[in-house]
Amino acid sequence: MKITRYKKVQRYMKFYYNNFGFHQPYQILVDGTFCFTAFKEQINIREQIPKYLNSQVKLLTTRCIIIETEKIAKKTHGALTILKQYGIHECGHTEPVSGAKCILSMIGKTNERHYILASQDRDLQEKLRARAGVPLLYFHNKSPTLDKPSRASYDNAGQSLETQNIFISETQNETLKCMKKALGVEEKVEETKIPVKKRKAHNPNPLSCKKKKKKPGQHVGVKKDSDTGSGKVRKRNKKKLPKHIKEHLKMSASC
Ligand SMILES: [Zn+2]
Repeated sequence: MKITRYKKVQRYMKFYYNNFGFHQPYQILVDGTFCFTAFKEQINIREQIPKYLNSQVKLLTTRCIIIETEKIAKKTHGALTILKQYGIHECGHTEPVSGAKCILSMIGKTNERHYILASQDRDLQEKLRARAGVPLLYFHNKSPTLDKPSRASYDNAGQSLETQNIFISETQNETLKCMKKALGVEEKVEETKIPVKKRKAHNPNPLSCKKKKKKPGQHVGVKKDSDTGSGKVRKRNKKKLPKHIKEHLKMSASC
C-alpha cells in the first residue's frame, strides 16, 4: 500500500513538473486549517510533508492567514505556533482578508509561483480545482494526501494521465525505431524477442520428455499416465502372448 501511495505522488508531481513547471524545492502554502489538523492529530508537518513528497519543500504562509488564525486563537493556539514557524510570502493585502481569499489571490488564475496548497478547507479546494495547475495537499486519516490533478489541470495540459503515458511510450517507441534503423539492430532485436517466447513454450516440453523416458523403463505396468504407453504395452501383450501361446499349444499338440 505504501509503495503504491508514494508512486502515485511521484506520478502526480511529474505531471505538474512536465505540464506546469513545478520544481524543487516545492512551495507549500499552508493555511490555518491544515496546521489545526496537524496539531490535533500530532503530525509533524516539517517531517511528514517532505517525506511524503520525497522532495525538498519550503513551508510558507501569509500575514492574512496568521491574522485570521490569531482571531480564533483560543481554539487554534497550537496551529498558530506552527504557522508562525513558516516563511511569510507577501500577499499585498494592506487590510487583512480571510485566509481563503488571500490564498485565492496568491494563487491567481495561473498559479505562476507554483504553490502547492496545504489546506483542509473543502470549499477552497473545490474553487482551486477549477483552476489548472494547483496541487492540493490535505490530511486524510492522519496521513498527508496529494489530490489527483483536477480535470481543469488535465484539460490545460491537453492530455489525461493515461493518454500521457501512452503518448510517452509512443514517442519512445518511435525514437527506439529510429535508433534501431540507424544502427541496423531492428531485426536482431525482433529475433531476440521471439526466442524469449519460444523458451517459455519449450520449458514444459523437456520436462515432459524426461517423464516419458522414465515411464516406459520404470513404471510400465504400474502407472497408466499416458495413453500411448499403456496402449503399446497392451498391444504387445495381446500380439505376443497369443503367438507364444499358439506356438506352445502347437508344440504341445504335436508332441
Ligand atoms: Zn493576504
